[in-house]
Amino acid sequence: MNKKNKIPDFESALKVNEGIEQPSQINQDAINRFKNKRQGLLSVDEYVEGVLSGNRTILSKAITLIESSLHTHQLLAQQIIERCLPYSGKSFRIGITGVPGVGKSTFIEAFGTYLTNLGHKLAVLAIDPSSSRSKGSILGDKTRMEELSVDPNAFIRPSPAAGSLGGVARKTRESIILCEAAGFDLIFVETVGVGQSETAVHSMVDFFLLLMLAGAGDELQGIKRGIMEMADAIVINKADGDNLLKAKTARVEYQNALHLFPPTESGWHPEVEIMSARLKQGIDRVWNLISDYQMLVKENGYFELNRKHQMKRIMHETIEQMLLDHFYRQEGIKELIQQAEIDLEINKLSSYQAAYKVLNHYYK
Ligand code: GDP
Repeated sequence: MNKKNKIPDFESALKVNEGIEQPSQINQDAINRFKNKRQGLLSVDEYVEGVLSGNRTILSKAITLIESSLHTHQLLAQQIIERCLPYSGKSFRIGITGVPGVGKSTFIEAFGTYLTNLGHKLAVLAIDPSSSRSKGSILGDKTRMEELSVDPNAFIRPSPAAGSLGGVARKTRESIILCEAAGFDLIFVETVGVGQSETAVHSMVDFFLLLMLAGAGDELQGIKRGIMEMADAIVINKADGDNLLKAKTARVEYQNALHLFPPTESGWHPEVEIMSARLKQGIDRVWNLISDYQMLVKENGYFELNRKHQMKRIMHETIEQMLLDHFYRQEGIKELIQQAEIDLEINKLSSYQAAYKVLNHYYK
């Protein structure tokens, strides 16, 4: 790639620049520390030590750096992540999705408290690229999780501010690394089941849990077949009061529907459970089910295999995204594409010829 085609922003954000060698009497580390301090930042060592010792305030600050769009913050964040990476990966990651109102917050509060009582350390993260907080969903309002938000063994982090799905997903993935390095052995990643974000969450978790309601109709719940196919478990919530019978019937229906799907790569047969998050009933069954899955995939090797696939897929996606961004940011490309579209309309060029013409300009 020639100089013109270098990717300045991302490249410098993702690596530690070698820089110019300094005369020995100048201590670059000390200068950086001084600069960081002036901006209210800690040194890389301080962030890393804080995260590794499980200091939640420092963990929060480090995640804030990940979420920041400032170049200096990104630089710092990438150094922290790199140092934390060897200590990450040891958790079990659970994706939780379902339409607004299905009971995600209530479930996470009940399930989370159940798990910390069992001695687990739980981090709850979220992906919500639309981030219309007015819906009151996606951990925007911590008071919705009264118990969990003050639980010393739980760490709740609301979704990063709205942005492109790719950007928000990257921030969440990087936050997972830091939470794991901080000793959290269970990670929840919550998302609203209405769009593309389920696929992003699915690509970063070990287990994907879909919350549903009985009798609401799949169309009403906005759940696409593709999402049901991704689920390792469907849990029908609000199985209480008058709704209990309906939930039991729905359970059989969903179980039958799942049988029609092709077998999963993991060797696991997705299960359907019923629960009442409000009454905290059925929570233990959900955990048993997840534990069974965990045992199976750790034994048959799928757990490791899937993690490796996920990492490779993310790398490829990142490369593609960066190249695309760089391409469309090139001067003159937009105009050239507009012209090519006109040429297509009047049959002056074929689609391939038009594409080559634009690409030629890019590679020139
Ligand atoms: P979210 O938008 O998916 O996070 O859903 P919430 O957790 O905010 O729940 C939406 C509404 O459903 C709230 O009024 C909850 O009290 C109620 N709810 C949640 N779980 C249950 C349940 O198990 N049974 C009943 N009856 N209501 C529930």
